[in-house]
Amino acid sequence: MHIDTRAVHAGRAPDAATGAVMPPIHLSTTFERAADGDYPTGFAYTRQSNPNRMALETALAELEGGAAAFAFASGMAAIDATLRALSPGDHVIFPDEIYYGVRHLLHTVYAPAQLQASFVDMANLDAVRAAVRPNTRLVWAETPSNPSLKIADIEAVAAIAHASGAWCGVDNTWASPVLQNPLALGADLVMHSTTKYIGGHSDVLGGALIVRENGPLAEKLGHIQHHGGGVASPFDCWLLLRSLATLPLRVRAQTESAGKIASFLAGHAGVSRVHYPGLETHPGHAIAGRQMRGFGGMLSFEVVGGREAAFALAARLRLITRATSLGGVETLIEHRRSIEGPDSTTPDGLLRMSVGLEHVDDLIDDLGTALAG
Ligand SMILES: *Cc1c(COP(=O)(O)O)cnc(C)c1O
Repeated sequence: MHIDTRAVHAGRAPDAATGAVMPPIHLSTTFERAADGDYPTGFAYTRQSNPNRMALETALAELEGGAAAFAFASGMAAIDATLRALSPGDHVIFPDEIYYGVRHLLHTVYAPAQLQASFVDMANLDAVRAAVRPNTRLVWAETPSNPSLKIADIEAVAAIAHASGAWCGVDNTWASPVLQNPLALGADLVMHSTTKYIGGHSDVLGGALIVRENGPLAEKLGHIQHHGGGVASPFDCWLLLRSLATLPLRVRAQTESAGKIASFLAGHAGVSRVHYPGLETHPGHAIAGRQMRGFGGMLSFEVVGGREAAFALAARLRLITRATSLGGVETLIEHRRSIEGPDSTTPDGLLRMSVGLEHVDDLIDDLGTALAG
């Protein structure tokens, strides 16, 4: 069935006890045991498993084409669980443009002896191959990347990882399962910050991991989720399942608007560069066209005049909100370099946009007026 249909029905069935068409929220942390000590429903304690979390995990696994999913309290908790599935001294290859929080986690929480890490341009397969070491256990891709929307060839990166006995993980937050399914391209693991497109309304924090098969990786992640305890709450799982139903519609509308905005900005004299994989001039255009079903609702652009001009432009916007995060119904704009901190390599004039569900003409009007000064 098509993703639109699966997004509405996956993980859902009328409630057996009441007939409720929409699932109830199970806040109970504990579940009754049978006289023989068994757990007749399979549920025992909510950190281990909960009906709302199970429903969300079932739906996420189905949408990504995976064998199992694990829902966490945030995207970072999901990434942290992945890193904890490795052994001390293991080596990880990360993209040079990896989500900023991951670099921070690695440098401030993990000791150098715990994990070795290389940061490479994932769009350059020779660089990925050259970074492999005998102890490489994980190759991580994030595509499109943040903030310059570099495209990694997932199939090729997964082949490099597998040739060296490593797992391939893909942060699929920006594409969402609507536009890209890394497991079908050979990845072993998909990660989402469900805070973004999956939540879709900027009002839930969450993360998820989806594995291609049941095996040692799935077992480790399930164990870490249960015993590490960074799980998603029943209410958050309920909200996320509700949001999944509209995910395909939202992402397609946001993608269509982002394409129009990218073309508008690319033709404007006040903009020196637009980063959007849907533009034919984008270096990853062909690969994105092959592995994605649309180019997404995220873009970034560089303003002529650098930092001052970028700040002034963002200050003149009336409709578009200046805020971090992405994937919500409202269009957001952000000066990335100032949130990334002093060692950021992002150009000073770069603004990143998460295109929302407003009418695209209103968004282009807002940008056009602000660019005119
Ligand atoms: C937001 C984000 C994360 C981190 O997720 P949180 O839910 O904020 O913890 C990781 N990767 C990408 C690509 C993100 O956009």
